[in-house]
Amino acid sequence: MHPLKWRGIEMSENKDFIIQIKGLQIGKHNYEFPIDGAFFGSFENSLILDADLQADVVLEKGSGWMNVSADITGDVTVECDRCLDDVIIPMDFSCTMAVKFAKSFEDSDGDEFIIMDPADGELDLTQFLYDYVCLNLPLQKVHEEGDCNEEMMAKLGSVNAPVEKDDEVGEDSPFAALKGLFDKKN
Ligand SMILES: [Zn+2]
Repeated sequence: MHPLKWRGIEMSENKDFIIQIKGLQIGKHNYEFPIDGAFFGSFENSLILDADLQADVVLEKGSGWMNVSADITGDVTVECDRCLDDVIIPMDFSCTMAVKFAKSFEDSDGDEFIIMDPADGELDLTQFLYDYVCLNLPLQKVHEEGDCNEEMMAKLGSVNAPVEKDDEVGEDSPFAALKGLFDKKN
């Protein structure tokens, strides 16, 4: 038997993102989950290189259903889209998930619920938390203007096509006279 469950204590610091449902009383229960870089490292192709997040989870258990809401705050480290150096992105958002206890999908009335077999004793929040953190990453993951790694930018610039310079014709350019001609014609 799980020693924490045996003593009837709710785990306040839970690193495996699993909530024991069996024997949980009807009503609201609070949990705190710290989420670090290792959490994202276990997912393939994760954009998140490091993380210092906290998920404050409220689980409301009803009869035959559960509502899970999480407030997620902190920051994550990702690759900057512009200079490829690490950039820290602050995060502060909420997400929810509705769970219905049913033996199978046929029992679920086709609602927008996550179906959980009542015999399952635990709720794993790993995928839920991962998906919502990824969904809440900004479309453009870049440093503040001027904060990019210039050395890196220079290297990238020499690989990519050079940026077109403003092609305004100067007064003393041989084209200046021509430009005047065209202006007159128009
Ligand atoms: Zn950058």
